[in-house]
Amino acid sequence: MNKDNLLLPTLIFATGNAGKAKEVGELLAGLMKVKSLKDIGFTEDIPEDHPTLEANAIQKARHIYDRYGEDCFAEDTGMEVTALNGAPGVYSARYAGPQRSDQDNMDLVLKNLAKKEDRSAQFRTVVALILDGKLHTFDGVVTGKIAKERTGEKGFGYDPIFVPDGYSISFAEMEAAEKNKISHRGRAIKKLITFLKEK
Ligand code: IMP
Repeated sequence: MNKDNLLLPTLIFATGNAGKAKEVGELLAGLMKVKSLKDIGFTEDIPEDHPTLEANAIQKARHIYDRYGEDCFAEDTGMEVTALNGAPGVYSARYAGPQRSDQDNMDLVLKNLAKKEDRSAQFRTVVALILDGKLHTFDGVVTGKIAKERTGEKGFGYDPIFVPDGYSISFAEMEAAEKNKISHRGRAIKKLITFLKEK
């Protein structure tokens, strides 16, 4: 371990998603020491069975806090497509079925949008932090469009079909730092960082 890490505050990040852990780890590097679920030996699935991103993020953070009693945070993210009335939204991970396949999910979004003019969409993240037993939430949004087909191989999830506003490339074609600068998760985590710095 880097010895400088010893001086940093420690937070558990309650996620089993490797893509999220990587992005958030990059955003918090040097500011906070983030412990993963693996680091604390937690290997079960965390329940997330609420109908909103807020409630799911809070449920995940509370689940870990209740078990370990340590400061922690969790996040929940959804992709909200205008022409699909906000779907897949909170059901983004299992849009095409319980197999939770990114490829199947993207195929279904592309199929459901095939005859629609409006391809606007947004990603929304809600972060729930439990610090000294108190709950705080932060959100982040990025607007954009669903492309006609996948491009790029970086990132994860729906990244190959999401083109953020102001860009002509998908999230999956961007370097991680570039995505983090403008992404839903990047924006929510920046609010978390500002809050923690003011503490
Ligand atoms: P959850 O927040 O882990 O429930 O993720 C919801 C769904 O959104 C999963 O299918 C993820 O792969 C996807 N997802 C979450 N964050 C991103 C992202 O930054 N880009 C693309 N897809 C994402």
